[in-house]
Amino acid sequence: MVGVIKKAAELVLKPVKEYTFAYICLSISLFIPQLYGLGFGRAAGDLLEGIFGNMFLCSFIAYIILWLCFAASLIFKRFGPALAWTFTLLVWIAACTDYFLYEFFGTHVNAFILQLVNETTNAESEEFFRTYILSPRFLKIAGLFVAGIALALIIELINSKLQSKKNADEMRQKGKCNTVLEFLGMLYICASIIYPFTVYKAFTFDFVENTVYTIGKPVSRSIVYMTYNAVIQFVQESDDFEKCSLSQDGIVASREGNAPADIVVVIGESHSKYHSSLYGYPLPTNPLLEQTDGLFIFDDVISSVNATSLSFRNFMSLSSLDQNRGWYEAPLFPAVFKKAGFCVNFYSNQFVYDPAMDTYDASCGFFNHPAMQDKLFNHKNTVKYQYDGELIDAYASVQDEIEKDSNLVIFNLSGQHVQASERYPSNWNRFNESDYAQRLDLTSEQKIYVAHYDNATLYNDYVISRIISLYADRDAVIIYFPDHGDEVHDFRNHIGRSHDYESGGYKAVHCQLDIPFLIYLSPMAQNEHPELLRKIASSVHRPFMTDDLPHLLMDIAGVRCKDFDPARSLISDEFNDSRKRIPRAITSTVRVDYDQVKPLKSFPWD
Ligand SMILES: [Zn+2]
Repeated sequence: MVGVIKKAAELVLKPVKEYTFAYICLSISLFIPQLYGLGFGRAAGDLLEGIFGNMFLCSFIAYIILWLCFAASLIFKRFGPALAWTFTLLVWIAACTDYFLYEFFGTHVNAFILQLVNETTNAESEEFFRTYILSPRFLKIAGLFVAGIALALIIELINSKLQSKKNADEMRQKGKCNTVLEFLGMLYICASIIYPFTVYKAFTFDFVENTVYTIGKPVSRSIVYMTYNAVIQFVQESDDFEKCSLSQDGIVASREGNAPADIVVVIGESHSKYHSSLYGYPLPTNPLLEQTDGLFIFDDVISSVNATSLSFRNFMSLSSLDQNRGWYEAPLFPAVFKKAGFCVNFYSNQFVYDPAMDTYDASCGFFNHPAMQDKLFNHKNTVKYQYDGELIDAYASVQDEIEKDSNLVIFNLSGQHVQASERYPSNWNRFNESDYAQRLDLTSEQKIYVAHYDNATLYNDYVISRIISLYADRDAVIIYFPDHGDEVHDFRNHIGRSHDYESGGYKAVHCQLDIPFLIYLSPMAQNEHPELLRKIASSVHRPFMTDDLPHLLMDIAGVRCKDFDPARSLISDEFNDSRKRIPRAITSTVRVDYDQVKPLKSFPWD
């Protein structure tokens, strides 16, 4: 019996004993990208569970890889070690790259990064190298990886010393060292093999009743999975953009009825409904809009996804998430408006077409696709500005020159995007740490971040009001909404969004998806279109998801094409208010029926 167990143990440990160095290198490099995905604001117990759970999972993946190498070595004797070293090197490089991207750009390996690399010229590579690789911050990353390699080397050294003793049995008689090490190693490897099979239980999450804390989905944060996913997505997306361009051909659109002359769509960025005084936030973050006549505040609108580029695709395309066609298989609303005779102008403070595109432009550049942009827009800006107000000033300076009788003007703001302190000029520094004395859950540093975010919201209030002032004397309707919501240390130590909703529960769903949604009618528009005014005023409590936005815009503007569906227009008398709202998360495959999620009765921190 003992002999059988020993044999089994030998077999289980075999690949690790053969390639100890590779096993440790692989485990560590797989683990590093997960470390910063864990969310360190968790309770100590959860955090430890997260760390050990992820460590086990990484070791399990490493173990599987090495078993394959070991199996290969049984057939081709020299093939195994070479394969083990190749895998180790590739994973090491991928982990290093991922950490670098996270440290400098706050992103993981993804399809957009691959797109960027694909588009980058030699001159840009040199500049990139000079800017980032030669910077002091890079030393931190390099240091961590050298430390990882050093640790693996030390363990490999100990292992090879132990292995070098010719007879293992003799060794065991001389001392217990090897046996103990082997036993511990065996225990660890077994735990790492059993663990992934227990993880699936942790995936189930009850959004309806309670926040059941889980350790998330370690697989989705694994560098192997992320790289695999990025490559698949990159290939897929290149294809989608081509298809999207073709979908903009042959659109037949017209205008009917007496509709407003100017439709202005203002797309905010990372605007939490729970930090807007229009929705009851106690600090006056929207003082100008609160006093604006003709402004209608919709209180049940959500974003279709918690990511910028995906949200753009969904709300620009006439295809909705609950339909059986991709976003790229339908016209985008600017192309329809252009076909219907509107002058379509797009001023973005995030994504401009520039031959020397930087990282963030590439991440959402699909409407700047060379084959697509002329089908969508008449005029676009070519430079970005430090603050959104400057973008509006730039548009105001050319407004009379470029606008026609009927205009669709789209402003895309940088809003309250992460690093909120950089989103507003210093003279808008109205809120500070002392304004959050009652938030006992926050540290001083967190209060300062929330203050920056609220200042950025206050500045955003000014920017929207400035846009309104450009159209106040015209026959205009202005629609404002952000691409998605945001977390601002609202109920856990977390800012921005997350790859899934599972780790944050129902509060994460609400913070990241619930958005402000505003429609402004100028005095002239109110007089000229009383029926439109009635429809808008009577729709403010309706449930809406922004993937149906084009239908609302077409309804307001009297634009018609074959894809127009009044049941999807928020203000239509035919509006379907029982449509299921199933939003997405960046990587999660869990589909949440938003209207079944536990409601947020007050503020997330209450
Ligand atoms: Zn965004």
